[in-house]
Amino acid sequence: MTGSEPISLDAFRKRKQKEKAEKPYPGTLVWLQCPFCESIEYTEIVAPHGRTHKCGTMVKEIEVEVDLRAEYTITQFNLNQIDTLLGKNKESRLRKLISRSLDDALLALKTSEETYISRLHQAAGCQIPVYPGTIEELKDRLPIREKNKLGLYISEFRFEPEKRFEKKDDVDHQD
Ligand SMILES: [Zn+2]
Repeated sequence: MTGSEPISLDAFRKRKQKEKAEKPYPGTLVWLQCPFCESIEYTEIVAPHGRTHKCGTMVKEIEVEVDLRAEYTITQFNLNQIDTLLGKNKESRLRKLISRSLDDALLALKTSEETYISRLHQAAGCQIPVYPGTIEELKDRLPIREKNKLGLYISEFRFEPEKRFEKKDDVDHQD
């Protein structure tokens, strides 16, 4: 460094591009639990005054701040992984008889990942881009909680949601 370095427009532009490429999309997702049905689901719709379940019971709500872009990046990777597994399953079925149940399970997972992606876009109010880079490069920066047996990544937000509700009610500790 000479200290008299001229301001490089090119470097400035590159820095701006880099910032844009790494820009998070902060948003809120909500976990809902019906204490009567004991069902748990997520929504992208924040309801500050609460809401009732279809059974008429007031649901418990936990709002979670997330980076929608990070969630989308993880989920998009999962979708690719599911497609790879579906392809492999198809190949092996040509050689030996394999139950359709794996296919069915993978297709169900695919639907749930696609639903999550559409909710993320709705929460952002626009189409979100994935973070550039491979999952190996991004892994440490993404809110990944676990990699499951199928090689799918579970984000912090989607990891064991029922535990979020336990914590709140847990008055006496079992230690
Ligand atoms: Zn209910």
